Amino acid sequence: MSRAPRAGAGHEAVVVRVAGPTATVSCGGDEREARLRPQVPGGPAVAGDRVELSEAGSEPAIVGVAPRTTVLERGDGADRRPRAIVANADLVLVVAAVREPPLRPRLIDRYLVAAEDGGLGAGIVLTKTDLPHDRDEVRALSERYRDIGYPVLAGSAKGPTLVEQVRELIAGRIAVLAGHSGVGKSTLTRGLTGVERAVGAVSAKVGTGRHTTSDPRLIPLPGGGAVVDTAGVRTFHLARMDRARLEAGFPEIARVAAGCRFRGCAHDGDAGCAVERAVGAERLDSYRRMLADVR
Ligand code: GDP
Ligand code: ZN
Repeated sequence: MSRAPRAGAGHEAVVVRVAGPTATVSCGGDEREARLRPQVPGGPAVAGDRVELSEAGSEPAIVGVAPRTTVLERGDGADRRPRAIVANADLVLVVAAVREPPLRPRLIDRYLVAAEDGGLGAGIVLTKTDLPHDRDEVRALSERYRDIGYPVLAGSAKGPTLVEQVRELIAGRIAVLAGHSGVGKSTLTRGLTGVERAVGAVSAKVGTGRHTTSDPRLIPLPGGGAVVDTAGVRTFHLARMDRARLEAGFPEIARVAAGCRFRGCAHDGDAGCAVERAVGAERLDSYRRMLADVR
């Protein structure tokens, strides 16, 4: 948090949101617009970036992006080019509804790998438990992730209990709320910050394509820290990464991988593989799908 942008004149600011050719930046609490230049060193800037502003032209411009402490990346296009979504956040909270839309463990795992890979902590927030749902499925899923070490919260995004638990989990840090559309990210964001945003985005956006409100936005929390609402990020693929990075993205695989007796084992179904024995079927399935994707 104390890192300054690279040397040079100008003001330090934090990117709140990028929308087309401009970014909303916050300088000491004041929000203003600044132009994004295409070839900024360290850029292009994304929400959470610490940037240097130049006031030399007719409007402020972002002329430098400070080295990132963490970065949440996605993969774009058929070759999964890495593209930063959020910079300098502390943790990803993967939001998933227990129904409507149904739980998607593969998507949860992709976000968890992206978090681990980008240097962020992670947790899981299950919403819509106020609706009738498969309790055994939800209990099993919660246990699976808690066993790995991820905190798991569950409740209604519309009620104060879950919102306050999420606030405690964030604990003054910068948290990215990620997950499938319709799971309650905007509802949680509103509960946490009081800022209204993009609720009902699923239906309202059908057929309208991308628009500016869909970009991740950093919103300060009243007691310190911030949330980044990624409600507009509709598909999430992992950036290309090699096997070692992918393995590191699964903490429970990384813990036992060294004990695998096969040198260079991809843990892809060989009898006697330590990972095969130690890791649950669901997560192993996620890992193997991602492995097939990255090699
Ligand atoms: P987002 O796309 O992830 O930002 O999801 P929204 O916050 O826009 O929520 C999608 C819809 O689900 C809205 O109609 C919300 O009111 C509703 N919703 C969100 N969380 C809950 C919840 O925990 N329980 C119930 N019953 N409805 C919820
Ligand atoms: Zn192995």
